[in-house]
Amino acid sequence: MNCPSCNHHMIEVEISGVKIDYCQDGCQGVYFDNFELKQLDETHEGSGSILEEILSQERQDDSRMEKMECPKCHIKMKRHKYAFDSDIYIDHCYSCNGIWLDKGELAAVRDQFRSDKQRTQNVETLISSVPDIGQEMARMEIERDKADARAKKRRGFFSFLNKIIPS
Ligand SMILES: [Zn+2]
Ligand SMILES: [Zn+2]
Repeated sequence: MNCPSCNHHMIEVEISGVKIDYCQDGCQGVYFDNFELKQLDETHEGSGSILEEILSQERQDDSRMEKMECPKCHIKMKRHKYAFDSDIYIDHCYSCNGIWLDKGELAAVRDQFRSDKQRTQNVETLISSVPDIGQEMARMEIERDKADARAKKRRGFFSFLNKIIPS
């Protein structure tokens, strides 16, 4: 299979049972079949010298906007963020669910995953460390803030009416 980015011939490599196409001699991007990225997107997943090589590569400028063709189906792939609040743009074929990662993006994806998990964990620890009475007070505070916001909105609406309806 040829690389969708630089057209070099990609080599097929296997990382802990997951087959990927790797543009080793060209742009060093990697292509995953059918969501197989899920099996290698966490920091503890996979091992071996090829994976180490891929993870050691530096990420490049990610501002490319043009869409690439899926190396398998030859239709244009969609370009979107990997996770909800990440800054990593991946190329995703909606037909075969192949995923293309530019050089250095696999490491970025794995780092992202770790930080997301850590964030959730931190929040959970935070909540569980608050005694029940504290949680109740926090909830009341949130409700009060919401009520305040609603009241403010209403006030704003009436003063708007006062302005447009002459008394
Ligand atoms: Zn390439
Ligand atoms: Zn495809």
